[in-house]
Amino acid sequence: MGTLLVKVLACGVCRTDLHLLDGELPACRYPVTPGHEIVGRVVASGSRFPGGARVGIPWLGWACGECEYCRRGRENLCDRARFTGCHIDGGYADYVLADERFCLPIPERYGDAEAAPLLCAGLIGYRCYALAGEARVLGLYGFGAAAHILAQVARAEGRTVFAFTRKNDFQGQKFALECGAHWAGDSDTPPPEPLDAAILFAPVGALVPTALKSTRKGGRVICGGIHMSDIPSFPYAWLWGEREIVSVANLTRADGERFMQVAAGLPLRTEVHRYPLERANEALADLRAGRFTGAAVLIPASADSQKRGLI
Ligand SMILES: [Zn+2]
Ligand SMILES: [Zn+2]
Repeated sequence: MGTLLVKVLACGVCRTDLHLLDGELPACRYPVTPGHEIVGRVVASGSRFPGGARVGIPWLGWACGECEYCRRGRENLCDRARFTGCHIDGGYADYVLADERFCLPIPERYGDAEAAPLLCAGLIGYRCYALAGEARVLGLYGFGAAAHILAQVARAEGRTVFAFTRKNDFQGQKFALECGAHWAGDSDTPPPEPLDAAILFAPVGALVPTALKSTRKGGRVICGGIHMSDIPSFPYAWLWGEREIVSVANLTRADGERFMQVAAGLPLRTEVHRYPLERANEALADLRAGRFTGAAVLIPASADSQKRGLI
Protein backbone atom coordinates (compact mmCIF):
# COMPACT_ATOMS: atom_id res chain seq x y z
CA MET A 1 0.00 0.00 0.00
CA GLY A 2 1.40 3.37 -0.99
CA THR A 3 0.95 6.80 0.43
CA LEU A 4 1.09 9.48 -2.22
CA LEU A 5 2.45 12.96 -1.72
CA VAL A 6 0.28 15.10 -3.96
CA LYS A 7 0.66 18.71 -5.00
CA VAL A 8 -2.80 20.28 -4.99
CA LEU A 9 -3.80 21.83 -8.31
CA ALA A 10 -7.42 22.56 -7.42
CA CYS A 11 -9.81 21.73 -4.57
CA GLY A 12 -13.57 22.04 -4.69
CA VAL A 13 -15.60 23.70 -1.95
CA CYS A 14 -18.45 21.49 -0.79
CA ARG A 15 -21.48 22.14 1.42
CA THR A 16 -20.02 19.54 3.77
CA ASP A 17 -17.19 22.00 4.46
CA LEU A 18 -19.80 24.45 5.74
CA HIS A 19 -21.27 21.80 8.04
CA LEU A 20 -17.73 21.11 9.26
CA LEU A 21 -17.13 24.80 9.87
CA ASP A 22 -20.41 25.07 11.79
CA GLY A 23 -19.51 22.12 14.05
CA GLU A 24 -22.38 20.03 12.70
CA LEU A 25 -20.26 16.94 12.04
CA PRO A 26 -19.25 15.66 15.50
CA ALA A 27 -17.55 12.56 14.04
CA CYS A 28 -14.89 14.71 12.36
CA ARG A 29 -11.56 15.57 13.91
CA TYR A 30 -11.32 19.21 14.96
CA PRO A 31 -9.24 21.05 13.95
CA VAL A 32 -8.72 19.58 10.49
CA THR A 33 -7.79 20.96 7.09
CA PRO A 34 -11.01 20.70 5.00
CA GLY A 35 -11.30 19.85 1.32
CA HIS A 36 -12.29 16.54 -0.27
CA GLU A 37 -12.57 17.36 -3.97
CA ILE A 38 -8.87 17.39 -4.69
CA VAL A 39 -7.24 17.33 -8.08
CA GLY A 40 -3.49 17.05 -7.77
CA ARG A 41 -0.22 15.95 -9.28
CA VAL A 42 1.69 13.03 -7.74
CA VAL A 43 5.05 14.19 -6.37
CA ALA A 44 6.19 11.09 -4.48
CA SER A 45 4.79 8.04 -6.19
CA GLY A 46 3.22 4.84 -4.99
CA SER A 47 2.80 1.61 -6.90
CA ARG A 48 -0.49 2.46 -8.59
CA PHE A 49 0.13 6.06 -9.61
CA PRO A 50 3.54 7.13 -10.93
CA GLY A 51 5.15 10.48 -10.23
CA GLY A 52 3.64 13.22 -12.40
CA ALA A 53 0.25 11.47 -12.71
CA ARG A 54 -2.88 13.53 -12.16
CA VAL A 55 -5.09 12.05 -9.45
CA GLY A 56 -8.37 12.80 -7.76
CA ILE A 57 -8.71 12.47 -4.00
CA PRO A 58 -12.33 12.04 -2.86
CA TRP A 59 -14.15 12.00 0.48
CA LEU A 60 -13.53 8.32 1.28
CA GLY A 61 -9.87 8.31 2.29
CA TRP A 62 -9.64 4.93 3.98
CA ALA A 63 -11.81 1.94 4.96
CA CYS A 64 -10.83 -1.06 7.10
CA GLY A 65 -11.55 -3.75 4.51
CA GLU A 66 -12.40 -6.22 7.29
CA CYS A 67 -15.75 -5.30 8.80
CA GLU A 68 -19.13 -6.65 7.78
CA TYR A 69 -19.83 -3.58 5.62
CA CYS A 70 -16.50 -3.60 3.84
CA ARG A 71 -16.72 -7.30 3.09
CA ARG A 72 -20.17 -6.86 1.57
CA GLY A 73 -19.14 -4.07 -0.79
CA ARG A 74 -20.53 -1.30 1.40
CA GLU A 75 -17.28 0.32 2.50
CA ASN A 76 -19.13 3.65 2.45
CA LEU A 77 -20.69 2.46 5.74
CA CYS A 78 -17.46 1.17 7.34
CA ASP A 79 -17.48 2.01 11.06
CA ARG A 80 -13.78 2.83 10.95
CA ALA A 81 -13.84 4.74 7.65
CA ARG A 82 -11.69 7.85 7.51
CA PHE A 83 -12.79 10.76 5.36
CA THR A 84 -10.68 13.32 3.58
CA GLY A 85 -10.96 16.80 5.05
CA CYS A 86 -12.73 15.30 8.08
CA HIS A 87 -10.39 12.78 9.73
CA ILE A 88 -7.52 13.15 7.26
CA ASP A 89 -6.19 16.61 6.40
CA GLY A 90 -7.68 17.69 3.10
CA GLY A 91 -7.08 19.86 0.08
CA TYR A 92 -7.34 23.43 1.36
CA ALA A 93 -3.56 23.21 1.16
CA ASP A 94 -0.57 23.21 -1.20
CA TYR A 95 0.23 19.51 -0.61
CA VAL A 96 -1.68 16.52 0.74
CA LEU A 97 -0.98 12.89 1.61
CA ALA A 98 -3.35 10.21 0.37
CA ASP A 99 -3.69 6.44 0.40
CA GLU A 100 -3.40 5.66 -3.30
CA ARG A 101 -5.91 2.79 -3.10
CA PHE A 102 -8.61 5.41 -2.59
CA CYS A 103 -7.46 7.84 -5.28
CA LEU A 104 -9.12 8.06 -8.68
CA PRO A 105 -7.85 8.75 -12.18
CA ILE A 106 -9.20 12.00 -13.68
CA PRO A 107 -10.55 11.89 -17.25
CA GLU A 108 -8.28 13.76 -19.64
CA ARG A 109 -11.03 15.95 -21.05
CA TYR A 110 -11.40 18.04 -17.86
CA GLY A 111 -9.18 20.85 -16.69
CA ASP A 112 -7.97 20.78 -13.08
CA ALA A 113 -10.57 23.20 -11.73
CA GLU A 114 -13.34 21.75 -13.89
CA ALA A 115 -12.60 18.24 -12.60
CA ALA A 116 -12.68 19.17 -8.90
CA PRO A 117 -16.49 19.22 -8.48
CA LEU A 118 -16.70 15.76 -10.04
CA LEU A 119 -15.01 14.34 -6.94
CA CYS A 120 -17.86 14.90 -4.52
CA ALA A 121 -20.72 16.78 -6.13
CA GLY A 122 -20.50 14.49 -9.14
CA LEU A 123 -19.71 11.30 -7.27
CA ILE A 124 -22.22 11.56 -4.44
CA GLY A 125 -24.77 12.85 -6.92
CA TYR A 126 -24.17 9.77 -9.00
CA ARG A 127 -24.63 7.44 -6.01
CA CYS A 128 -27.97 9.17 -5.35
CA TYR A 129 -28.85 8.76 -9.00
CA ALA A 130 -28.05 5.03 -8.87
CA LEU A 131 -30.52 4.71 -5.97
CA ALA A 132 -33.17 6.30 -8.16
CA GLY A 133 -33.00 3.13 -10.27
CA GLU A 134 -35.02 3.24 -13.44
CA ALA A 135 -36.86 6.46 -12.53
CA ARG A 136 -38.05 8.11 -15.73
CA VAL A 137 -39.09 11.37 -14.11
CA LEU A 138 -36.50 12.69 -11.70
CA GLY A 139 -36.84 15.68 -9.36
CA LEU A 140 -33.73 17.47 -8.09
CA TYR A 141 -34.23 19.65 -5.00
CA GLY A 142 -31.51 22.24 -4.48
CA PHE A 143 -29.77 23.09 -7.71
CA GLY A 144 -26.12 23.54 -6.78
CA ALA A 145 -22.87 21.80 -7.62
CA ALA A 146 -24.23 18.23 -7.46
CA ALA A 147 -27.48 18.84 -9.33
CA HIS A 148 -25.86 20.81 -12.14
CA ILE A 149 -23.67 17.80 -12.97
CA LEU A 150 -26.35 15.18 -12.38
CA ALA A 151 -28.93 16.97 -14.54
CA GLN A 152 -26.59 16.59 -17.50
CA VAL A 153 -26.03 12.87 -16.84
CA ALA A 154 -29.76 12.20 -16.39
CA ARG A 155 -30.64 14.17 -19.49
CA ALA A 156 -28.04 12.31 -21.55
CA GLU A 157 -29.58 9.04 -20.39
CA GLY A 158 -33.04 10.08 -21.54
CA ARG A 159 -34.62 10.92 -18.18
CA THR A 160 -37.04 13.77 -17.63
CA VAL A 161 -35.48 16.20 -15.15
CA PHE A 162 -37.36 18.70 -12.99
CA ALA A 163 -35.35 21.16 -10.89
CA PHE A 164 -36.56 22.76 -7.67
CA THR A 165 -34.91 25.79 -6.10
CA ARG A 166 -35.47 28.20 -3.23
CA LYS A 167 -38.51 30.41 -3.73
CA ASN A 168 -38.01 33.03 -6.43
CA ASP A 169 -34.44 31.93 -7.18
CA PHE A 170 -34.88 32.83 -10.83
CA GLN A 171 -31.13 32.79 -11.48
CA GLY A 172 -30.91 29.23 -10.15
CA GLN A 173 -33.92 28.16 -12.22
CA LYS A 174 -32.44 29.65 -15.36
CA PHE A 175 -29.17 27.86 -14.61
CA ALA A 176 -31.04 24.55 -14.15
CA LEU A 177 -32.65 24.91 -17.56
CA GLU A 178 -29.25 25.68 -19.10
CA CYS A 179 -27.91 22.46 -17.53
CA GLY A 180 -30.59 20.39 -19.21
CA ALA A 181 -33.55 20.41 -16.80
CA HIS A 182 -36.89 20.19 -18.64
CA TRP A 183 -38.63 22.37 -16.07
CA ALA A 184 -37.53 24.48 -13.11
CA GLY A 185 -39.57 26.03 -10.32
CA ASP A 186 -39.90 26.81 -6.61
CA SER A 187 -39.65 23.78 -4.33
CA ASP A 188 -43.22 24.23 -3.09
CA THR A 189 -44.64 24.26 -6.62
CA PRO A 190 -46.01 20.90 -7.83
CA PRO A 191 -44.03 19.52 -10.80
CA PRO A 192 -45.69 19.19 -14.23
CA GLU A 193 -46.09 15.46 -13.60
CA PRO A 194 -45.51 13.24 -10.54
CA LEU A 195 -41.91 12.20 -9.85
CA ASP A 196 -40.68 8.60 -9.98
CA ALA A 197 -37.83 9.66 -7.70
CA ALA A 198 -36.70 12.82 -5.95
CA ILE A 199 -33.13 13.59 -4.93
CA LEU A 200 -32.62 16.17 -2.19
CA PHE A 201 -29.34 18.07 -2.20
CA ALA A 202 -30.55 21.05 -0.16
CA PRO A 203 -29.95 20.47 3.60
CA VAL A 204 -33.56 21.34 4.41
CA GLY A 205 -35.58 18.67 6.23
CA ALA A 206 -38.91 20.31 5.29
CA LEU A 207 -38.21 19.28 1.70
CA VAL A 208 -38.69 15.60 2.59
CA PRO A 209 -42.50 15.83 2.99
CA THR A 210 -42.62 18.35 0.13
CA ALA A 211 -40.87 15.91 -2.19
CA LEU A 212 -42.97 12.97 -0.96
CA LYS A 213 -46.15 14.81 -1.94
CA SER A 214 -44.79 15.18 -5.49
CA THR A 215 -43.65 11.55 -5.78
CA ARG A 216 -45.86 8.86 -7.22
CA LYS A 217 -46.71 5.52 -5.54
CA GLY A 218 -43.70 3.22 -5.29
CA GLY A 219 -41.38 6.20 -5.72
CA ARG A 220 -38.32 7.15 -3.71
CA VAL A 221 -37.12 10.27 -1.96
CA ILE A 222 -33.33 10.17 -1.71
CA CYS A 223 -31.54 12.46 0.75
CA GLY A 224 -28.05 13.20 -0.54
CA GLY A 225 -26.68 15.52 2.15
CA ILE A 226 -24.49 14.59 5.12
CA HIS A 227 -26.52 16.85 7.38
CA MET A 228 -30.08 18.13 7.25
CA SER A 229 -32.33 20.21 9.46
CA ASP A 230 -35.03 18.18 11.25
CA ILE A 231 -37.74 16.64 9.13
CA PRO A 232 -41.14 17.97 10.22
CA SER A 233 -43.92 15.47 10.90
CA PHE A 234 -46.34 14.74 8.11
CA PRO A 235 -49.43 12.57 7.49
CA TYR A 236 -48.71 8.89 6.96
CA ALA A 237 -50.83 9.11 3.80
CA TRP A 238 -47.95 10.92 2.07
CA LEU A 239 -45.67 7.91 2.63
CA TRP A 240 -48.39 5.33 1.98
CA GLY A 241 -48.33 3.62 -1.39
CA GLU A 242 -44.89 2.06 -0.83
CA ARG A 243 -43.06 5.34 -1.15
CA GLU A 244 -39.60 5.21 0.38
CA ILE A 245 -37.26 7.70 2.04
CA VAL A 246 -33.57 6.80 1.97
CA SER A 247 -30.29 8.55 2.69
CA VAL A 248 -27.04 8.32 0.81
CA ALA A 249 -23.90 8.10 2.90
CA ASN A 250 -20.44 8.69 1.46
CA LEU A 251 -19.19 6.68 -1.49
CA THR A 252 -17.43 3.44 -2.35
CA ARG A 253 -14.39 3.13 -4.59
CA ALA A 254 -16.60 1.30 -7.07
CA ASP A 255 -18.89 4.39 -7.23
CA GLY A 256 -15.84 6.51 -7.96
CA GLU A 257 -14.56 4.29 -10.76
CA ARG A 258 -18.02 4.03 -12.31
CA PHE A 259 -18.70 7.75 -12.22
CA MET A 260 -15.29 8.63 -13.66
CA GLN A 261 -16.07 6.32 -16.58
CA VAL A 262 -19.36 8.15 -17.10
CA ALA A 263 -17.57 11.50 -16.92
CA ALA A 264 -14.94 10.32 -19.40
CA GLY A 265 -17.64 9.39 -21.88
CA LEU A 266 -19.87 12.46 -21.55
CA PRO A 267 -18.84 16.07 -22.11
CA LEU A 268 -20.07 17.26 -18.72
CA ARG A 269 -19.83 21.00 -18.27
CA THR A 270 -18.96 22.00 -14.73
CA GLU A 271 -19.43 25.66 -13.96
CA VAL A 272 -16.62 26.64 -11.64
CA HIS A 273 -15.74 29.83 -9.82
CA ARG A 274 -12.06 30.02 -9.00
CA TYR A 275 -10.84 31.51 -5.72
CA PRO A 276 -7.21 31.74 -4.62
CA LEU A 277 -6.65 29.36 -1.69
CA GLU A 278 -6.14 32.27 0.72
CA ARG A 279 -9.68 33.43 -0.05
CA ALA A 280 -11.24 30.12 1.07
CA ASN A 281 -13.41 31.87 3.66
CA GLU A 282 -14.87 34.10 0.98
CA ALA A 283 -15.70 31.06 -1.16
CA LEU A 284 -17.42 29.42 1.83
CA ALA A 285 -19.39 32.60 2.59
CA ASP A 286 -20.47 32.88 -1.05
CA LEU A 287 -21.60 29.24 -1.03
CA ARG A 288 -23.60 29.79 2.16
CA ALA A 289 -25.30 32.86 0.72
CA GLY A 290 -25.95 31.22 -2.64
CA ARG A 291 -24.01 33.96 -4.43
CA PHE A 292 -22.93 31.77 -7.36
CA THR A 293 -24.32 29.00 -9.52
CA GLY A 294 -22.30 25.80 -9.97
CA ALA A 295 -19.28 25.17 -7.78
CA ALA A 296 -16.46 27.08 -6.07
CA VAL A 297 -12.91 25.80 -6.51
CA LEU A 298 -9.80 26.86 -4.61
CA ILE A 299 -6.52 27.25 -6.48
CA PRO A 300 -3.28 27.30 -4.45
CA ALA A 301 -0.94 30.13 -5.47
CA SER A 302 1.82 27.60 -6.23
CA ALA A 303 -0.40 25.74 -8.71
CA ASP A 304 -1.57 28.97 -10.31
CA SER A 305 1.86 30.55 -10.79
CA GLN A 306 3.25 27.28 -12.11
CA LYS A 307 0.50 27.22 -14.70
CA ARG A 308 1.32 30.75 -15.76
CA GLY A 309 4.99 29.86 -16.12
CA LEU A 310 6.10 32.05 -13.21
CA ILE A 311 7.96 29.28 -11.38
ZN1 LIG B 1 -14.78 -1.57 7.32
ZN1 LIG C 1 -18.57 16.94 -0.54
